[in-house]
Amino acid sequence: MNNEDITIGSTINELTIVEFIKKPDECDKYKSYPGTWVRCKCSCGKEVVAPLYGIKRGMIKSCGHYKGMSSAKVLERFHKTHPEQPNAIYYEYDGETKNISEWSRITGIPRTTLMYRINNNFKPKDIFKKEGNND
Ligand SMILES: [Zn+2]
Repeated sequence: MNNEDITIGSTINELTIVEFIKKPDECDKYKSYPGTWVRCKCSCGKEVVAPLYGIKRGMIKSCGHYKGMSSAKVLERFHKTHPEQPNAIYYEYDGETKNISEWSRITGIPRTTLMYRINNNFKPKDIFKKEGNND
C-alpha cells in the first residue's frame, strides 16, 4: 500500500484517517516512528494520533480496544506457524499461555464453549465466565 492510496476517510483496520499531521513534539507512544502522522478515528469512537507507517504496517490497528481481539489473532498466527498441529489451540490469559484443553480443565468450562467464545472474540473475562446451562 502506497502513501498515495491513503487519503482522508481511508479506513485501515479499525482506524479511519481524519487528518494528516506532523509528528507531535511530545508523544509518549510510537516515538521512534518517522514520517507522516495522522489523526484518526477508531471504530469505537476514540480519537487516535499515530504514525501512518505503523498503521499501514498493521502494527497499530485501533485505539487499543482491539487488543481484546489479539488472542484470536494469536490462534490465527499459531495455526499458520504450526500447521502440523491443527488441533493444538492456545490461548493467552493473565500472562499464561495454555492450550484450550488445559484451560478447560482448569476452569471447568467445556472446551467447545471456550472455542466458541474465543472464535467470537469474547473478552477474556467473558471467555472464562462460568455460565448456567446455556451450552
Ligand atoms: Zn477503539
